[in-house]
Amino acid sequence: MSTSTPFTRFQKTLHTVLQKIKLEDGQNTLFDDPQFVHKKDITIQSGNGSEKKFHAFRVQYNNARGPFKGGIRFHPDANEDEVKALAALMSIKTAVVNIPFGGAKGGVQVNPKHLTSKEVQEVAREYVKAFHENLGPDIDCPAPDVNTNSDIMAWMRDEYEKITRTYSPAMITGKPLSFGGSVGRDTATARGGFFILQEMVDRLALDPGDMRVAIQGFGNAGANMAQLLHQAGYIVVAVSDSQGGIYSQEGIDPIRISKYKSKTGSVTGEYCEGSVCDIERMKMDDVAKISNEELLELDCDILIPAALDNVLTKENANRVKAKYILELANGPTTPEADDVFEKMGTRVIPDVLANAGGVTVSYFEWSQGRSGEQWTDEQVDERLKRVMLDAYKAVRREARREHMTYREAAFAVGIKRMLDAMQVRGWI
Ligand code: GLU
Repeated sequence: MSTSTPFTRFQKTLHTVLQKIKLEDGQNTLFDDPQFVHKKDITIQSGNGSEKKFHAFRVQYNNARGPFKGGIRFHPDANEDEVKALAALMSIKTAVVNIPFGGAKGGVQVNPKHLTSKEVQEVAREYVKAFHENLGPDIDCPAPDVNTNSDIMAWMRDEYEKITRTYSPAMITGKPLSFGGSVGRDTATARGGFFILQEMVDRLALDPGDMRVAIQGFGNAGANMAQLLHQAGYIVVAVSDSQGGIYSQEGIDPIRISKYKSKTGSVTGEYCEGSVCDIERMKMDDVAKISNEELLELDCDILIPAALDNVLTKENANRVKAKYILELANGPTTPEADDVFEKMGTRVIPDVLANAGGVTVSYFEWSQGRSGEQWTDEQVDERLKRVMLDAYKAVRREARREHMTYREAAFAVGIKRMLDAMQVRGWI
């Protein structure tokens, strides 16, 4: 059993990179701790009159380059260590795509699937009551993350404006279109990753029609990515959600899977009810049910982890057959698995680059919130593409020049930009 935690894993990569970029004396510890850790317990009234209490966190890692920025997740495993690691990754991510933000992350240790919609709304509002003094368009701007969505962002904005008696559309991003959201924000994480993957495939002169892709996770990022890839002619051979996955050598139709997922709650919903599947029909359609672990080891060209962290580890890395891994999830690969992939020649496009489309369009939403402008689909898409390809180019160049993996190169690009800002401010 590994004793690593999300934050120790982050630190391991961080220190490898800090050593490689040879900082001045004393600078090696600059990113060891967040600037601020806020934690409180929040309490809601449940339907039957009793109270429910949850641990809540907001970690503000670094704001040298601009206001703290990062999502809030509602998840039973959310804890201080994980939120700290995710906040650190956000600081690097915003620097890699060169947008004027720092990094932060929030979390509530709760399973929203066990709450009514009214209770989820209460959790959202209580979160803002707990942390409002540390939030704001110029201070710290949250966004959606695992298990949070545009409705939750709307409640949070409303609560913030009530408490502060301000009009503050730019205090949070990922809002509904009717309440200060930006077009393209809901599909931005997938779209950003798609631009990078497509650029890589073009540069390597590969044919999308030959590329077999497996995607773990069918939430916002995974489901939208499956559709984009399918439309562009890639063969999506497998997708999964927390209950398991579905595989077809011929390729599956993500739109059809989405339809069944919304109807039944599961990507296997067309064939299975719980663990009972219609084997005959599956055989006829040439599909098979697979586990999340099996999906990662499938015979395919591109693997896209788009669910939770810590899924590619030293236990399974050497069984991964894909030559390319695009991380839409945050932190899916451990440093030990990174070493295995480097030895195997597997290219990993890291989270801080691959999934940065989400925070990039959050930046566009924040700008629109401040200026009162409303951009079109085309404007968002064109600017997103430019930001993503510029970041990809910077990372590629650094990797080549310094003989680094793409993850190390992305960290190096981000850290150097953060150091520049800290220097200019006179912090170092
Ligand atoms: N939660 C997303 C991420 O991990 C988006 C953050 C944001 O838009 O601020 O990048």
